[in-house]
Amino acid sequence: MKIKEILQNGKLNLSLEVFPPKEWPKFDDTIRTVDSMALLSPSFISVTYGAAGGTKTYTKKIAEHIQQQCHVTALAHMTCVGTDREEAQKLLSELSNSGVENILALRGDKPLSGEYKKDFTHASDLVRFIKTSGDFCVGGACYPEGHPEAESLSKDMDALKIKEECGVDFFTTQMFFDNNIFYCFLNKLYQKGINTPVIAGIMPITKPSQVRSVMELSGSGVPPRFRAIVEKFGDNPKAMQQAGIIYAAEQIIDLYANGVRNVHVYTMNKPFVAATLRSHLSEILA
Ligand code: FAD
Repeated sequence: MKIKEILQNGKLNLSLEVFPPKEWPKFDDTIRTVDSMALLSPSFISVTYGAAGGTKTYTKKIAEHIQQQCHVTALAHMTCVGTDREEAQKLLSELSNSGVENILALRGDKPLSGEYKKDFTHASDLVRFIKTSGDFCVGGACYPEGHPEAESLSKDMDALKIKEECGVDFFTTQMFFDNNIFYCFLNKLYQKGINTPVIAGIMPITKPSQVRSVMELSGSGVPPRFRAIVEKFGDNPKAMQQAGIIYAAEQIIDLYANGVRNVHVYTMNKPFVAATLRSHLSEILA
């Protein structure tokens, strides 16, 4: 099923994410992770793509497994820096033959070495290419706090408008930990005339080390309320995990209460975290 159709079903939709292994011997472990996640009936499962494309074969195989063996809608990520035009065409044709009809088109982070594919400059170029290559539902990334490289949030909004004009069917946000930032962002999109559906990205932080990496890699701010939780429970792994999952559940409850129905959970190959989060929302999802 196309994700743009799922987003219109009027229910609270929770989607999950997996990342492929770096090496073949770990592939079966990842498949077991995927199978456990599929049992939670997510609205779809997305599969990330190594920035420079190193894991792209696994991304394709995992997406195919989700679609064909788990009978769950798969969303395969693809990056500009990891794919040239010819590879993109081949990958799209293989995915289409396997019934995968949803692609998240991203630029990817440019390796400092400068060694990356340059056929597509911006994610919008990849969106346009995919839209003209077949009957795909194509998503793009957006950043409620602005993309770290953007001169300003306003310039970043201009780039989102271009992505919309290139045919993107939905946006998924970078993770955020303060819902007010997301509500302000939705308002700015509205003012800019961007009407593409937006999936809110929520990450249950279960280890103190994740706070640092989240801030460095995504540029997302961590509000004082959450920092206090990390300070209080950071030395107690089980308490930290519980508090992180409950914090994410509270974010989702607040979003849903305020009219947001589509939430992508950055589960990071942790079915236990996804299952516990889901159990906190069982009556809301029923
Ligand atoms: P773009 O949309 O190209 O934007 C990058 C920068 O260029 C922004 O500052 C933007 O304002 C600017 N820009 C965009 N278009 C234009 C234009 N036409 N003219 C001028 N400026 C422009 N990375 C991976 O490697 N693999 C993944 O699987 C992956 N999955 C992700 C999933 C989500 C939901 C998110 C939010 C991010 C993901 N990333 C992934 C990270 C992403 O690749 C990086 O954040 C990257 O730095 C930007 O990607 P983008 O698609 O937003 O790029």
